[in-house]
Amino acid sequence: MMEMTPDHQALRELAETFVKETINPNVEQWERDRQLPTRALFKQMGELGLLGINKPPAFGGLGLDYSYQAVLAESMGLVTGAGVALAVGVQTDMATPALARYGSDALREEFLRPAIAGEQIAALGVSEVGGGSDVSAIRTWARRDGDDYVVSGSKMWMTNGCQADWICALVNTREVDRARPARMPLDKSLIIIPTDRPGFSVGRKLEKMGMHCSDTAQVFFDDVRVPCRFLIGSEGRGFPYQMKQFCDERLSISLSTIAAMHDTLSRTIAYVRDRSTFGGPILSNQAVQFRLSELVAEVDILRAYAWQTVENFVRGRDVGRESAVLKLGAGRLVRRVNDQCLQLWGGMGFMDENVVARRYRDQRLISIGGGTDEVMLQIISNALGFDRMPASSESL
Ligand SMILES: Cc1cc2nc3c(=O)[nH]c(=O)nc-3n(C[C@H](O)[C@H](O)[C@H](O)COP(=O)(O)OP(=O)(O)OC[C@H]3O[C@@H](n4cnc5c(N)ncnc54)[C@H](O)[C@@H]3O)c2cc1C
Repeated sequence: MMEMTPDHQALRELAETFVKETINPNVEQWERDRQLPTRALFKQMGELGLLGINKPPAFGGLGLDYSYQAVLAESMGLVTGAGVALAVGVQTDMATPALARYGSDALREEFLRPAIAGEQIAALGVSEVGGGSDVSAIRTWARRDGDDYVVSGSKMWMTNGCQADWICALVNTREVDRARPARMPLDKSLIIIPTDRPGFSVGRKLEKMGMHCSDTAQVFFDDVRVPCRFLIGSEGRGFPYQMKQFCDERLSISLSTIAAMHDTLSRTIAYVRDRSTFGGPILSNQAVQFRLSELVAEVDILRAYAWQTVENFVRGRDVGRESAVLKLGAGRLVRRVNDQCLQLWGGMGFMDENVVARRYRDQRLISIGGGTDEVMLQIISNALGFDRMPASSESL
């Protein structure tokens, strides 16, 4: 595991204190509201420097390597409503990495700086009704008209979608030729679409089984005009840019989830140590001890793998396969951790206010968002050189 320096420790203390003192006391209210005060929360986090840890100092970031961002992701795992961690993760690890890596200085000045300061809310627009796993099937189209792109289409399940100031959107900028899959990766571009432009609308806020405080929206683009200079990097490179941005996303989701699993297990161990049945603590049963020990051991192993991946990422290596292995592992393990821990709380486990119950609902998303378990398996299969999927799923 990577060595944690005093700077890492100081950052962890700052972030965990913020989570415990400023976020967690409000989570139940935000869950009831079905809404985060995202603007106020991000402003506070921006002032503490927490929204630009690994972003360039020239645009207000701290310029630290990804291992420090990983510390923030772990700290966000301690939030008692994963919807908050999701909103923050979108701002730091899902909607801004490509802009920070490939955006022009003018674009970064206009959109990255306010996102780092917590003055603007970012969202990521990749998935569409007809293209979630199969990203190559997206239909949203940006046609050139003079110095503008004119965007038409829609995006589905967009986190922060109701409150976002701008969207990092994956769109087609060339005729999609599904008969020639080799060309498909060059059909797409990432562009910034501000949400105050005429023709943009939020269709509806989506009701979900969990992540209640996080807003998720379907949004529409009806001939939305944006200047061509809002293109991130080069036209036609959006697909590979987004594949790399998915690595940040999958690392961040996994690190938060692993930290949350440790927290869920600690809370559960404390509960079964304290609660007695049939004349002794529930934890005195060897079956319970072994079940918890096994889960703790599996979470420990996954965390070691996560930090090995972080180290490789910091060294500039391609972690496409590792981040897929990690998210697959985190998504599957968290379902077992939450289910088995909830069982150990008995009736209390089924109560709405119980953190374990909330995580049971919220973290079901880990096997779906940022690419499903099956998409992760496809990436791993491709990395192993197994026969590829039919053309329509080549992009996985
Ligand atoms: C709460 C929430 C927040 C989200 N936030 C965002 C966001 O901010 N931005 C964004 O762009 N997206 C977001 N998403 C969308 C998410 O990334 C997609 O839902 C996800 O990628 C799956 O796509 P889909 O829903 O279209 O499923 P589908 O692609 O329809 O897949 C359905 C099922 O079939 C399986 N499947 C599909 N193809 C194959 C195959 N070839 N072989 C085997 N199995 C297959 C899938 O794994 C899945 O289990 C969010 C989703 C949710 C629920």
